[in-house]
Formats: sequence, structure tokens, C-alpha cells
Amino acid sequence: MAVKNKIKVLIVEDEPAQLELLSYNLKSEGYEIICADNGEEGCLLAQEENPELIILDWMLPKLSGIEVCRQLKRKKETREIPIMMLTARGEEADKVRGLDIGADDYIVKPYSVAELLARARALVRRANPAASGNVVEYGDIYFDAEKIKLTRGGKAIKLGPTEFRLFSIFIGRPGRVWSRDQLLERVWEHDLDIDYRTVDVHIGRLRKALRQDGKPDPIRTVRSAGYSLDYES
Ligand code: CA
Repeated sequence: MAVKNKIKVLIVEDEPAQLELLSYNLKSEGYEIICADNGEEGCLLAQEENPELIILDWMLPKLSGIEVCRQLKRKKETREIPIMMLTARGEEADKVRGLDIGADDYIVKPYSVAELLARARALVRRANPAASGNVVEYGDIYFDAEKIKLTRGGKAIKLGPTEFRLFSIFIGRPGRVWSRDQLLERVWEHDLDIDYRTVDVHIGRLRKALRQDGKPDPIRTVRSAGYSLDYES
């Protein structure tokens, strides 16, 4: 099984030249890129594709960037996704308005690509420390994705590669509910031989490993929705 950990970025931008510049530079940094050229499609893709970062232009056809941001920040499934707003206007009032409705960062055109990339990295790291190889602590769980090290209450936990991959998704956003489809896509990349039962089997193994020494089960089953890393330690 190929373990790929590409960070997915959604770019919503209606100017083809801007879109190409952004997408080229982000791709060369190793990101996976999905694009929308209007606000409506941007909203839809954000919900369907569950990106780790959204770069959102302010002036867009169909639905403005502000409206897209407002809608995504209102929905439980999308509100944790960091949003970087792009705008040609530099007025302080716009910036405040953008941040007011929940945008996580704000960059004014024309921008330096290096600066945008640095800010994109920071946003992803902040929202999803596991994806960027940082150390994460959650309750009594300590996770170091780079060193492939996981401990609970100070004791090392050994996971198989699939369970490790699953766990790094959960620990990236504790409390977030992941559907089986989303887990399939991220862990198995829609391998056709894999079905929901396989997801459940690996969740079971992950639970067993995490429950060592009679510790509480940190994985919550959310009926007809999926699974989540969510517990009080
Ligand atoms: Ca525009």
C-alpha cells in the first residue's frame, strides 16, 4: 500500500493567470491542488473534498469570497478548515471584515509568492500539526509523525502502517467526525478492493492498541456518520 500524505489545498480564484501561478507554486511545494473558478463551486468542493487549506479570492462570480467564507465557517464539517483570503483591496476595513467573518489569514494582491507559501504552511501547521510532521499532544496521547512515535500515558504504542495512517488523520483534528468514505479516500485512496468493513476492522485494531492497560477508548463511533478521536482523559 502506498502511504501518501499530500496536503490538499483548494484554490478558489476566477482569474486564470492568478490561478495558474498559485497552483504551479503550491504543486511544486508538494501540495495536491483542487481548483474552483467561482464561489458556488468553491463551497461545494470544500464540502466534498475536505481540503486542509482554502485559498479564497475575495471578488468571485456567483458567490463572493466573503460569502463563501461565511458559509464554510458556519458549517460544522467545514469550519475547521483554515481559509486564506486574497484580495486586491488593501483597505484596513476589508481586512477587518474578512477576519471578522472567520478568515484565518488575509493577503493583499499583488503578493509575494514566497510570503504566501510561508503563510500557507503556517496555517496548515496550526490546523493540522500531524500532517506537517509536528509533535501533537492530546490528553495522555503523544504523537510524533516524523519519528513515527506514539505513546499513551508515557507507554509506547505500536501500530501497523494502516492504523498509523488512520491515527495521524484523527490526531490532526481531534473532535472532528470522519466518515468512512473520507477515511477510505485518505488512507486507501479509493482502492476498489477496500470496503467499509475493512475500515471498521482497522478502526478496531487501532482501538485495541490505544486501549492498552485498560485506558478508555479514545475513538468515538458516531452513528451513521463515522468516527472521531474524542475523549476526556
Ligand atoms: Ca477575482
